[in-house]
Amino acid sequence: MSNCIMCSIALTANNKRTFGAGKIRGGEEVCLNCFKKINDANPTIAKSLKRYTLAEILESFTEREKENAEILERKALLDTEKDKQSLRLVEIRTQIQSLGLDNSSAFWGRKEINELPEILNIDESIDNIIQGTYNNGQGILVSTNRRLVFVDKGLLYGLKVEDFPLDKITSIQYETGMVFGKVKIHTSGNTANIENVDKNSARKFAEFIRNKLSEPKPTVITSKPEPDVLEQLAKLGKLHESGILSEQEFSEQKKKLLDKL
Ligand SMILES: [Zn+2]
Repeated sequence: MSNCIMCSIALTANNKRTFGAGKIRGGEEVCLNCFKKINDANPTIAKSLKRYTLAEILESFTEREKENAEILERKALLDTEKDKQSLRLVEIRTQIQSLGLDNSSAFWGRKEINELPEILNIDESIDNIIQGTYNNGQGILVSTNRRLVFVDKGLLYGLKVEDFPLDKITSIQYETGMVFGKVKIHTSGNTANIENVDKNSARKFAEFIRNKLSEPKPTVITSKPEPDVLEQLAKLGKLHESGILSEQEFSEQKKKLLDKL
């Protein structure tokens, strides 16, 4: 009568593997239960059990535990990431709602809205949005503080995103028909036509973007520093010496400079 080297249970014909298949390297044997645990932790070891010592088998358990802990950690991270994304989606939906668009309810069902947390930067806020078609795909044109971005989530081809950075847009126009309108985004050398837009929305959107583009951008005023008067006098003296300035020109300029002192 021997005992399981791992759990010490008395080995019987009912709880051990047949033909000594439960034996490990030193000739000791494991019970059926412990063999299952070894197989879960490392099937390679379980397959050639008699080549491994007890220490090696126990080590494989520790490794397995570490791996499990890592998997759990990764899952937790993923969940946190998902939480962040869903919070961002709530934020984005709130932004769209607060725009007070005529037909904002029409956007809620759009798959593209759910993609916005991935597409937009964290500091990007939406100030306008329309629906339409672009390059034969139906989607939404979103205006943010940085760009216009057309997002089209198709069933067959997946997600298409096209960017129009505000500083690349030279002008924006619209055309309206009976029901639908078209928004034309001009960038240097290119025109993107967003078609089948509700005609009132097309007009309002284009006017909004036009106003936004015409807003004066903050400019940095650089004033030239006044060159030192004495330095200027020295230069003037040299010009006079070399005969470039006449006596009269020299005294006129000299007087002007001296007045500044
Ligand atoms: Zn056992």
